[in-house]
Amino acid sequence: MPMVMEKQEVLAELIAQELKPYVKKIDQDAFYAESFLRKLGESGLLLSAARPQAEVLADGLYLVGETAKTCMTTAFCLWCHLAALTYVRTTENEKLKADLLPSLENGTLLGATGLSNPMKHYAGLETLHLTAKRTDGGYVVSGVLPSVSNLGRDHVFGAIAGLNEQQQIMVFVSCNSPGLTFKEKNDYLGLNGSATYSCTFKEVFIPDDRVLSEDANAFVAKIRPTFIAYQIPLGFGVTNASIHSIDKMVNRQNGCNQYLRTQSPELQQKEEEYQQQLLTLISQEPLDWKEIAKIRLGAAYLTLEAVQTAMLHNGSAAYLKVSAPARRLREAYFFANLTPTIKHLEKVLSL
Ligand SMILES: Cc1cc2nc3c(=O)[nH]c(=O)nc-3n(C[C@H](O)[C@H](O)[C@H](O)COP(=O)(O)OP(=O)(O)OC[C@H]3O[C@@H](n4cnc5c(N)ncnc54)[C@H](O)[C@@H]3O)c2cc1C
Repeated sequence: MPMVMEKQEVLAELIAQELKPYVKKIDQDAFYAESFLRKLGESGLLLSAARPQAEVLADGLYLVGETAKTCMTTAFCLWCHLAALTYVRTTENEKLKADLLPSLENGTLLGATGLSNPMKHYAGLETLHLTAKRTDGGYVVSGVLPSVSNLGRDHVFGAIAGLNEQQQIMVFVSCNSPGLTFKEKNDYLGLNGSATYSCTFKEVFIPDDRVLSEDANAFVAKIRPTFIAYQIPLGFGVTNASIHSIDKMVNRQNGCNQYLRTQSPELQQKEEEYQQQLLTLISQEPLDWKEIAKIRLGAAYLTLEAVQTAMLHNGSAAYLKVSAPARRLREAYFFANLTPTIKHLEKVLSL
């Protein structure tokens, strides 16, 4: 169920004009490709009204995968926005949906997600970092989220806070809320153009019309399959770009690369198998998050294999700091350590 050709062309044009020229700047100078993300919305590529869930999901996968072929950092920012969109599309808070869904879909508002800690919490890895107290007309939230990406002055993001041991709420937070402060994190090995900040909440007021759910546990069960599915093409995009870079090197040094143990056809075959399995899974209802998580895990390992193979095939040119294979190597290690991380997935899939 690929995206219709007309939309594919719009996307290809946007990637060529608004993303490709900035990839080095994103990687080397922590440039955040906000304009590309806004233009995706402006171009109508994120609209969901009156469309079947599977089609919206398949289009989102295509957007992330195509973007990741050029720049995984920006594709990750797009994933953050798609995760936020999923929360708003899923909420039963009709006021919140009516207020925010149109602007999130047309690119005037950008969204993000602070759900790593709660996802780890629900898998028994960590305690919850945010707490909430009921007050007149809403909740006050306190605590620290160590990393939230795709943030900006007027952006919004989803977060989960504990009221008590039994009940957690999920809220949609505006970055300009009083009591909320940010510290930029841009000293990573890669991903520095992802507009990532640690977020400190000091009694931040969240009005009732920004509460996504008063039963976060049940809400997470609903959004989890989509949350994970949208991540998978981050890996496919990087794998695909690595395969292309391997294929370009085939005649170098009189074809010496043919003696390397891993060659591109086997990477390609695995990627195509996962792609096919994922498309089958997202056409089923209800979505089976564990089956989707298995593909996510396979994609994480495949991506690591692909970027390493590309480093070997590209030789010392790839060892330059600014080379594309080196960028993809660094980005792939983030994909492996993005929640759900490889270790998190190995744990939940073994239970
Ligand atoms: C660039 C980037 C962007 C991210 N964006 C988001 C986002 O948008 N939303 C979101 O919710 N999460 C985000 N995360 C978090 C991410 O999804 C994963 O949760 C995290 O990378 C995986 O960490 P982990 O499970 O290894 O645990 P960690 O969170 O790394 O913690 C594991 C253990 O290591 C310790 N630890 C952590 N950092 C250090 C350090 N520097 N030195 C020593 N000990 C340390 C912790 O205290 C903990 O005990 C981002 C992370 C990065 C690196």
